[in-house]
Amino acid sequence: MKVLKFGGTSVGSADRMKAVADLINDGSPKIVVLSAMSGTTNQLVQIAETLYQNANQEANALIDALHDKYKQVVEALYLTDEKKKQALELISHHFDHIRSFTLDLFTIYEERAVLAQGELLSTALFQFFLEEQGIASVLLPALNFMKIDENEEPDTAYISKNLKLELEKYPDTNLFITQGYICRNAFGEVDNLKRGGSDYSASLIGAAADASEIQIWTDIDGMHNNDPRIVKDTFPIAELSFDEAAELAYFGAKILHPSSVQPAKQKNIPVRLLNTMQPQAQGTTISAQTGKGGIKAVAAKDGITAIKIKSGRMLLAYGFLRSVFEVFERYKTPIDMITTSEVAVSLTIDNPKFLSEITRELQEYGQVEVDQNQSIICVVGDFIAERSGSGLKIFEALKDIPLRMISYGGSKNNISLLINTTDKERSLIQLNEGIFERNNKNA
Ligand code: ADP
Ligand code: ASP
Ligand code: MG
Repeated sequence: MKVLKFGGTSVGSADRMKAVADLINDGSPKIVVLSAMSGTTNQLVQIAETLYQNANQEANALIDALHDKYKQVVEALYLTDEKKKQALELISHHFDHIRSFTLDLFTIYEERAVLAQGELLSTALFQFFLEEQGIASVLLPALNFMKIDENEEPDTAYISKNLKLELEKYPDTNLFITQGYICRNAFGEVDNLKRGGSDYSASLIGAAADASEIQIWTDIDGMHNNDPRIVKDTFPIAELSFDEAAELAYFGAKILHPSSVQPAKQKNIPVRLLNTMQPQAQGTTISAQTGKGGIKAVAAKDGITAIKIKSGRMLLAYGFLRSVFEVFERYKTPIDMITTSEVAVSLTIDNPKFLSEITRELQEYGQVEVDQNQSIICVVGDFIAERSGSGLKIFEALKDIPLRMISYGGSKNNISLLINTTDKERSLIQLNEGIFERNNKNA
């Protein structure tokens, strides 16, 4: 069994959906995970924002506009009037559900239900298309097996058990379609795996089904060595280890959801990043193999807050760091980077929700300084095998950029640097010129 995930652009129009049907129709067993059509989740977010503000007229206009877009998709996707009618009824049902939220109190629960509609729509429309084409498949509701616990972490035991129960209901089927992104939470409510979460769904489903391979089909030919939205002349990397890919995903390479490598790594299932627009391209294979050493790629993560705690007593007082970490633990706020000196410790967080509470409590241990609008630049590769001075190349490339923090040695795969977000684009471009030699390209 393979798991194939198709992202928003890959199912972004009637034509793209038809292309996906062609790609998956080879008779081999698979679970196909779909995102919402591109733009839909953003539009649902916007609808939710207007509903929070009780701007019902504006919300209705946005809902109608999105509904119209789906009517056009239906028109273009199906051949027969019968299927068109069935699909129009289905989308009306979903949009009436969204409209019903204009009539009542709008809270985070309703917001999550609204956000779930994108994946519910794309999968249902795709299943209808397969039916019309005579391709045998079953639509599995992700809400029946995908679950997060009270810490918003996937409940892998539940997912495995319930996915297997769902699959067992259809012993004669070898093509399953399901929704990415959406899940139930510990209270049984509709929830989601955060933006970009369909990758994570695919990886969790792959791990739960003991898949032989997880394919992430998107709009680019694999993981590039740098952010192609910012840097020209980036190139795809043929092979990455799980650890390298996990670092890149976590530190901002948008092609993968930050947590999506872990489940595949745990079950040692190779992940392939492939391009729906260019299905023959080699893409990237992520596996336990390390491949060749040296610097492989650079990524950047924005929205970082740096916190410095200055205390004369720090080095003498054992237990100081523990006390500091406990503050973050109490507010369930993960720390990304950390550096220490004799008199101070600096660390970074990407979730500022409890920043003021954290700052207040930390003041008990010393003087606290907070810098917002920071970015982590993460350079990934195999630095044990690398003996040609990666550090020198990195610092040379960034010689005119103020570095707020540097982290090296935490793992053999990562050198992280904290900079002002205003310096990010320049840093990524300069790193591209400084550290990727021509002969690395297409390696
Ligand atoms: P999907 O909708 O298929 O999930 P995403 O938009 O989430 O696609 O991810 C693919 C996009 O990620 C690419 O179009 C590209 O702009 C962006 N991206 C950012 N960093 C990288 C990188 N290092 N390699 C490849 N793509 C990247
Ligand atoms: N549709 C969701 C989003 O846009 C999930 C995904 O595409 O992976 O974030
Ligand atoms: Mg994505």
